[in-house]
Amino acid sequence: MKQLFCILFFGILLFSCSNGTTKGDYIEADTLCSTPQCVIVLQPYEDFSKKEVEKLLPKLQKAFGEWLYGYWEFKIANPIRLPQNSYVKERNRYRVTPILNYESKQLTGYEVIIGLTHKDICTDIHGHKDYGIVGISRPLKQVSLVSDKRLKEKSLMWKPILHEFIHTFYGAKHCPNDDPTCFMKDAKGHGNFKIQDKLCDACKQ
Ligand SMILES: [Zn+2]
Ligand SMILES: [Zn+2]
Repeated sequence: MKQLFCILFFGILLFSCSNGTTKGDYIEADTLCSTPQCVIVLQPYEDFSKKEVEKLLPKLQKAFGEWLYGYWEFKIANPIRLPQNSYVKERNRYRVTPILNYESKQLTGYEVIIGLTHKDICTDIHGHKDYGIVGISRPLKQVSLVSDKRLKEKSLMWKPILHEFIHTFYGAKHCPNDDPTCFMKDAKGHGNFKIQDKLCDACKQ
């Protein structure tokens, strides 16, 4: 499983890792394979408690194990404040750009940081300034952020987390089938997470 993940993540460079015969790349590849590249850091913000993350964890482990190839190790960080410069007083929302910038600075290697918050988060999108959103990520940049503020059922937060992780880790786009039952369906401002129960065949690819 771990080898499969390595190949996925590092592509051709690590191919030698799985056969171990190529002299030139082997040492470098082997080093990369032994680094904790599959670590997913769950970073709670503000009043999102560590206990709540612990409650969320089994759902994430189950979903990642079921739907994604790879070996995933989750780590729970201590809750911290959201960056002050992200706060939009008039709307009582937090802009995502300074938060993602902060997370990018915290990256030490091949981990992925997923920020978690109960606060309302926003960005300029759909022609609106500071539009409230559920989640955001930077494709292939290993950082994302999810808020459960706009979720009717808070217990479904694992679904937008999985969605954002797929964006940031694989660089995947939204569901090409626009399948409402697919985890990668573009919410377009009013996502129905309740009926999402799979990755469609196209998104599985
Ligand atoms: Zn899909
Ligand atoms: Zn998305």
